[in-house]
Amino acid sequence: MAERKTGEAKNLDAIVVGGGLAGLYALHRLHRMGLRALILEAGRSIGGTWFWNRYPGARCDVESLEYSYSFSDELQQEWVWPERFAAQPDILRYINHVADRLALRPFILTDARVVSAVFDPGTDRWTVTTAGEVFQAPFCIMATGNLSLPRLPPFRGLESFKGNWYHSGLWPEEGVDFSGRRVGVIGTGSSGIQMIPIIAEQAGHLVVFQRTANFSVPAENRPITPELDRSHKERYRYWRDEARRTPFGIAGHPPPTRSALEDAPEQRARVYEEKWGTGGNISFLYAYNDLLVNRQANETAAEFVRNKIRSIVRDPKVAELLMPRDHPIGTKRLCLDNGYFETFNRDNVTLVDVRSDPIAEITPSGLRTRTRAFELDDIAFATGFDAMTGALLNIDISVDGGPRLGDKWAHGPRTYLGLMTAGFPNLFMITGPGSPSVKSNMIASIEQHVDWIADCLRHLGDKGLKGIEPDEGAESSWVEHVNAVADATLYPQANSWYNGANIAGKPRVFMPYVAGLDKYRKICDEVAANDYRGFSLKR
Ligand code: NAP
Repeated sequence: MAERKTGEAKNLDAIVVGGGLAGLYALHRLHRMGLRALILEAGRSIGGTWFWNRYPGARCDVESLEYSYSFSDELQQEWVWPERFAAQPDILRYINHVADRLALRPFILTDARVVSAVFDPGTDRWTVTTAGEVFQAPFCIMATGNLSLPRLPPFRGLESFKGNWYHSGLWPEEGVDFSGRRVGVIGTGSSGIQMIPIIAEQAGHLVVFQRTANFSVPAENRPITPELDRSHKERYRYWRDEARRTPFGIAGHPPPTRSALEDAPEQRARVYEEKWGTGGNISFLYAYNDLLVNRQANETAAEFVRNKIRSIVRDPKVAELLMPRDHPIGTKRLCLDNGYFETFNRDNVTLVDVRSDPIAEITPSGLRTRTRAFELDDIAFATGFDAMTGALLNIDISVDGGPRLGDKWAHGPRTYLGLMTAGFPNLFMITGPGSPSVKSNMIASIEQHVDWIADCLRHLGDKGLKGIEPDEGAESSWVEHVNAVADATLYPQANSWYNGANIAGKPRVFMPYVAGLDKYRKICDEVAANDYRGFSLKR
């Protein structure tokens, strides 16, 4: 059944904003509790991140057997993942399968971008408005995603460009044929690093505009054999339990016990070589237990990767440009690639350093840096997102006669547990800033948050309570704690979207909680068990 448009039942028990993996599971849980809930989704269809990010080579950097819902044994048993790291079309197929299997579609409104959400303290209800419709419910759940507001740098002249341009996060559904064309890719984060090898194979010529070199390790992607599928499924419960006990919510990677500085250089090289061959970013960063907390230890891993780049890329000048030197490895999302560095050995690929020679403007026929002009038929922007807060603040969220979220967060997001923010009753965020979110397996974090929120709503219902809101004091302590945990690591040493550094003028606040999903889950459970410590419950 197609997602339906409806004019009926605008009064609900809960409104869910966003029809990605978070929103769909939230809807399912709320339905199971007998609540009337609806998803409002901006896109033409469901899928969130996996609906929009269809650029060539888009795939997940968490293994498929882990990056999938764990709440239903039926679902995990019946679905067959073709590859170790799933490609975007397979993940989108999975999401659609889940929506059908759980009969969610009649309760999803697509092409319904939410523009505002206003809480009325008199009636304890949220009014949520799209371009054409108004919905009301006591509870509003923001499942708007962490990387869902694409960011286009304000390049002069883009409107004059006669060719085609694309953003990784708004890729056309029908795909793009780059055969024989002169293509420019701007950006070398995870998205750029994934698309560049594929576009290089199609394009007549590809110019990669790199401002900051990035660390990347091989995915070592491969088909999942029927034997692996069977053996994993036989022990799925075991794997899911193990995942719950890990900081990243991902099983199969035993935590390291040694410091990188304990091993002699030759032994360390063997360890890194083995991890490089295994593939995957967790595997690599789990080589030693201090890579993300000790700069000297980190440098051993960073230098190993630089040496790999030296050995792969034939032109030493190009290799040098591709070697990251401005941040510790792993403090920006460690990219996973399929032949990224090898791509720069192709005759039809040129690397341009736009750190020393920045992009000055887009021209009708291409792009001009300060000193050179490039003729291009197509430009692909892999320039990232207004992460963590962008999609939330894109909605005008306020309390009638009270605060606006945009004002409250003017100096950076403030939340209690990344779940709620003081002054905004009954407004929940799934994987909000201040929670492990992007520093974990997103699906594991989504499930943990949705379960916590659903249990909270059940508690409120059972006790006849009208609402819940964090206390300012609990929120301030949490914000301090999130920062203190980050400050004990190397993460703040990178300019990244984790701390808003990718957006000019965005407050520099480290947003994810990096103590680990295992520890965080315990804190959330304890808070709930202690009568929602740090929250005020309203009669
Ligand atoms: P990103 O990591 O923010 O990278 C954006 C890139 O664009 C950077 O190289 C940046 O350079 C460059 N850029 C931005 N403005 C520029 C300008 N004015 N001139 C030149 N270059 C400019 O964005 P992303 O690659 O889309 O990745 C975002 C996150 O999405 C990832 O970290 C990851 O968490 C997620 N993701 C995951 C996967 C996966 O699962 N495999 C795939 C894609 C994305 P600077 O570094 O100099 O700012």
